Amino acid sequence: MIDITKHPEYDNHELVSFFFDKKTGLRGIIAIHSTILGPAVGGTRYFNYKTESEALDDVLRLSRGMTYKCAISKAHFGGGKAVIIADPKKKKTKEYLKAYAKQVNRLNGLFFTGEDVGMSMNDIKVLIKESPFIIGNPKKAGDPSPWAALGVFYAIEQSLEIIDKKRGLAGYTVAIKGLGKVGMELARLLYKQGVILIGADVDILRNKEFLHRFPGSKIVPVSEIHKQKVDVYSPCALGKEFNKKTINQLKCRVVCGSANNQLVDPKDGLLLYKRNIIYITDYLANAGGLINVIADLNQKKYSKKTIQKNVFKIKATVKEIIALSRKNKQPTNIITDLVAEQFILKNKKNN
Ligand code: NAD
Repeated sequence: MIDITKHPEYDNHELVSFFFDKKTGLRGIIAIHSTILGPAVGGTRYFNYKTESEALDDVLRLSRGMTYKCAISKAHFGGGKAVIIADPKKKKTKEYLKAYAKQVNRLNGLFFTGEDVGMSMNDIKVLIKESPFIIGNPKKAGDPSPWAALGVFYAIEQSLEIIDKKRGLAGYTVAIKGLGKVGMELARLLYKQGVILIGADVDILRNKEFLHRFPGSKIVPVSEIHKQKVDVYSPCALGKEFNKKTINQLKCRVVCGSANNQLVDPKDGLLLYKRNIIYITDYLANAGGLINVIADLNQKKYSKKTIQKNVFKIKATVKEIIALSRKNKQPTNIITDLVAEQFILKNKKNN
């Protein structure tokens, strides 16, 4: 028997639910880290995990991250996540998605979910018909990725403003790993401001699109992207980006990207700090996506203007975290966790 409490990523999760649907082959895990601030929110990731243990590792890390992401965004929701173990030989049919919606419905509102890696807006449309617990409704909040990109953009802008004590991004260089929904949109926002871009994706078509859309930019091999001499390195692919080796290879002043779980071990935040690289904690940098989708739960009438205002607040939080990190001589990831935990403690009392 698995003793989940012994799992290194367990961190007092409130619920970990494994599901399997014999008819469709649907297999996955829903994890709820915390509902202290409210029902848990977090996307559903559809990914070709090699083993169930790999999927469990991912879902636990991601759902914990959601608790912190909600708290750092001052959102009164908890953290959860779902992963579906994809079978590359099978298509994601309507029946398959319906079977998944049934699993979400079983939790009866303890967990609200939406798009993440591997899930499309078309999938969300199917799920919405089957479950009242789906967020990112295309008729309301819709795709979170442009908002996630905008938040990363603001975080980059703020970091450079603090380091160089000047405004404006023209002439800076940014290397982006992963030119998907967030990475490509971030590239567009930066390019518009005169930023010089370097990109890398495992998908050749994405690299081609990047070069076509942003003339003058450069593509480098995936293995080289984090080693580029740039102002900012922006990981926008998948997680587990940084370890001792990759941190030592960095030649940037700021790390700020959308990928979740960038640090393999949170202790490695200290290595970044010692190298004088400002690391914007992943769940803070990419919170724009969450800020957008929870509007489906918060607002009667969805307002883009309000979302824009709330995503812009990421700038102020980045400023606060960098200042605290400098004052207390502590890595930014530790400070970000502390600020998020303080919000949870304060609002827990008021519940
Ligand atoms: P996506 O699937 O659209 O894009 C990911 C891109 O990364 C793809 O183009 C893929 O080919 C590429 N990629 C995968 N592995 C790679 C590797 N090893 N090296 C280089 N490229 C690689 O996903 P997305 O929605 O753009 O999300 C990107 C990251 O941001 C994910 O980690 C996701 O969890 C996180 N995130 C996304 C959102 C959102 O709203 N979409 C919000 C918050 C966080």
